[in-house]
Amino acid sequence: MARGFFNVPKAVNEPVKGYAPGSPEREELLATYKTMFQQNIDIPMHINGKEIRTGNTKNITPPHDHKHIVGQYHIADKSHIDTAISTALAAREAWSSVSWMERASIFLKAAELLAGPYRAKMNAATMIAQSKNVHQAEIDASCEMIDFFRFNVSYMTDIFKDQPASSPGIWNRVEYRPLEGFVYAISPFNFTSIAANLPAAAALMGNVVVWKPSDHQAYSAQVIVDLFKEAGLPDGVINVVYGDPVMISDTVLASRNFSGLHFTGSTHVFKNLWKQIGNNIHHYKTYPRIVGETGGKDFIWAHNSSNPLQVATAIVRGSFEYQGQKCSAASRAYIPQSLWEAVKKHIIAQTKEIKMGSPEDPSNFVNAVIHEGSFDKIASHIDAAKADKEVEIIVGGNHDKSVGYFIEPTVILTKSPTYATMTAELFGPVMTVYVYEDAAWEASLKLVDESTEFALTGAVFSTDRYIVEKASKILENAAGNFYINDKPTGAVVGQQPFGGARASGTNDKAGSAQNLLRWTSVRLIKETFVSPTDFKYPFLG
Ligand code: NAD
Repeated sequence: MARGFFNVPKAVNEPVKGYAPGSPEREELLATYKTMFQQNIDIPMHINGKEIRTGNTKNITPPHDHKHIVGQYHIADKSHIDTAISTALAAREAWSSVSWMERASIFLKAAELLAGPYRAKMNAATMIAQSKNVHQAEIDASCEMIDFFRFNVSYMTDIFKDQPASSPGIWNRVEYRPLEGFVYAISPFNFTSIAANLPAAAALMGNVVVWKPSDHQAYSAQVIVDLFKEAGLPDGVINVVYGDPVMISDTVLASRNFSGLHFTGSTHVFKNLWKQIGNNIHHYKTYPRIVGETGGKDFIWAHNSSNPLQVATAIVRGSFEYQGQKCSAASRAYIPQSLWEAVKKHIIAQTKEIKMGSPEDPSNFVNAVIHEGSFDKIASHIDAAKADKEVEIIVGGNHDKSVGYFIEPTVILTKSPTYATMTAELFGPVMTVYVYEDAAWEASLKLVDESTEFALTGAVFSTDRYIVEKASKILENAAGNFYINDKPTGAVVGQQPFGGARASGTNDKAGSAQNLLRWTSVRLIKETFVSPTDFKYPFLG
């Protein structure tokens, strides 16, 4: 029961730790990595707070050392999904009506636990199972996840404060109810923070959730489950299931009480889920909310007024950090002829300095790509480029999956703006460059806008403000996150709300009030203090 209008702590971004040689955080993290790497962990599903072990398991192997087994996770049959749904619905009554302060407190506590005792564990799990280097694990699995929890609590209270005006004699108020039913969260492999945020954002607003993490993120998902439990999340609010995504989705989407999809992953999976929801529409109690953040083909465009070293650095960082497996990673660049030789020289010099290998060695900037399917897809595109006389590999081009799924950071030069790797999302450390005639800069912006179906992130480089303004206008709908003189990656919660439109998603901006609004259904309450007693209006007189 609330007896006051409470303010929540001011949300601030979690400072990123440096992990410099000799620092205590580096020693703790590398020691935790070593211990966890040698353990064999058995990861259950979590339904109604209970650990569910089916005996039907799959191994977890680090992408950079795929013969080494660090654990197994248990997978569901249809009956487990049915139980997860009924359990969530049973938990709904208490969770949807508990004071918002209790829910806020759980996620604020989760943020503090993660900033402290859970930090090394969450980062190490992400390094091991998703092959992120120390810095990439820190900015994702710790800082971004902490920021999601803190800022979402703050945004929730901003939403609640948004109330209508009331004329004399009446009192209008809106209450932000959770959706009627349960939310289905499906998360991708590439960000531990996104995996936590998809179920947590909906749960914070009072919803109950069935969460299906990616098979390739189960290891760090288990640390998230432990974190939520220690923070005090009641049983049944977030139920975690693993297994065949088609079977799970068929079962979930057939439920009359399905009321929202919170998805992040690839475009074709999302489109199929949307279609399936459409086909079932007559069956649902309420129109389901559909939120999906999906694929990208993110660009860097440079004008001849830009600095070649800055452009090259943005390409190297923006394309190769986390092996190009950020949805925001740059993978196509448009460079003017007069700048190309200088940009190329810097790209080659910087890329040759990059070390690749296990994240256990912090001097490795690039680690392995997530799994064999991804490795084979990226390698086949690189091999096709090698064999194609129309394109040239400027740097990189090697790959080796004997120990881990390692792909050398690779830059391809093409004469065709619609070449395969200029338009398809590869999700790997591959950048393709198209060089345009300086005078045709405006036409090249149209190519950026029209060459792909995506519109997630993009960056333009120029020191000429007329050009910057023109580029911003022509590319108005080409990116949901648009960068000027910066790489197109590294969005920070509370500063750059993230998401794209066109085939890249519903652009509901993760880490913002817009996203949280999707998990509420407003009830307007109008109260009249002295009710009328005569039906006749004055005009009838
Ligand atoms: P994915 O689409 O393969 O998998 C995402 C999730 O969907 C996983 O949990 C997976 O098990 C599940 N899934 C797979 N097939 C399914 C099906 N038929 N029905 C239901 N669920 C299914 O994506 P991924 O490889 O894990 O992640 C990479 C993709 O995610 C890239 O396309 C990337 O651009 C995108 N992504 C986008 C954002 C964003 O904010 N726009 C953020 C991160 C990742």
